[in-house]
Amino acid sequence: MADRGGMQFVGGTRAAGLACCAIALLGIGAAAVGAQAPTRAPGRPGTTGVPGAPRPVPNGVLGGVPMTAEDSAIKQITSRLDFESYKTLIKGLAQFGDREQGTERNAKAVDWIESQLRGWGYTTERIKYDYVPRGGGAPEPREEVYATKVGSTVPGEMYIISGHMDGRGGGEAVNDDASGTALVMEIARVLASAEVKTARSVRFALWNNEETGLNGARAYVEQRAKLQGVEEPRGSGKYPEPKWLGMIQHDMMMWDHGNPVTWQQALDADVDIEFQLASAKSSESAQLALVLLNSNRLFATDYPAAMSNAMSNTDSSPFMDLVAAVSMRENRRLYETGRGANPHWHRATDLFVSYTDADFKLGFNAAQTTLGAIARLAEARVAAK
Ligand SMILES: [Zn+2]
Repeated sequence: MADRGGMQFVGGTRAAGLACCAIALLGIGAAAVGAQAPTRAPGRPGTTGVPGAPRPVPNGVLGGVPMTAEDSAIKQITSRLDFESYKTLIKGLAQFGDREQGTERNAKAVDWIESQLRGWGYTTERIKYDYVPRGGGAPEPREEVYATKVGSTVPGEMYIISGHMDGRGGGEAVNDDASGTALVMEIARVLASAEVKTARSVRFALWNNEETGLNGARAYVEQRAKLQGVEEPRGSGKYPEPKWLGMIQHDMMMWDHGNPVTWQQALDADVDIEFQLASAKSSESAQLALVLLNSNRLFATDYPAAMSNAMSNTDSSPFMDLVAAVSMRENRRLYETGRGANPHWHRATDLFVSYTDADFKLGFNAAQTTLGAIARLAEARVAAK
């Protein structure tokens, strides 16, 4: 796929290829969000309503409109993502098998994630909660880890990006969800650099107990929603729980082989960005999804993205009535994943060796997409030397 995708999207072919789907995608967005949906990229003011100005287009790729200075500054950051590093992180998680919650290999994987984050210079923290096994029984203690890139000028506001580190199925849970966990870790690695500053804070959360009913993410919301925006100690400029501005979950990132399933990554493989129409923050979530969609057009190298409105069955759900929340996936959860689009899902075959570079590349393109959006929203910049 790397070959095929590369050829397919070289030069103007990608723009031409995207032009048709972009129109369709904007149709989906507009239909989903109603009158509130912008029909062009945010962060590109000044091209509308000016007599004689070029017709606004959804992004800098379509129509050959050059990147703005802001776009170029963001690209300096997304180009720091490393494909081999992403794969190595996935392999690092795979060494703990399926990391099923409650097992020793799950606890060891939490420790390993924490040691990686610390190795990049982060101070890590843990959420501790009690998990009540399905069907009853005594509550059992569980833990999950997170780290934060503290904002340089607005530390009291933040975006959360996340994946779930637990899995099931008896294999290595590589696609579900080492692929999303490693994506978040690779972005954390890039933003850890002292040369990169973000105005607002960015938190990297690696949930546990997703597979048992989103218990880790629910525990986070229960324990920390009320702490948002509180400066502690007062006057310190420190915010243990900055105010939530948006939440982006990554769950199953690599496999879009069509349905009926084929051996190769599908020719029209894409990154699916989903928000939930039936949520209190649906409008804000649609706006966040559009920022991701436009980021994909500017910064993803191989695969396009699509946006739809039926986010479900992942750790963004506990957030969706409180803050803009979206999930990123290889397929739409209800209409594709839930209908057999991934034969490795929760199976012992969800192994590192089951995937090719074309598959890993889809996850990597989602990383480019999320980092491009987060860099815009949190105002990330590489400091001038
Ligand atoms: Zn999952």
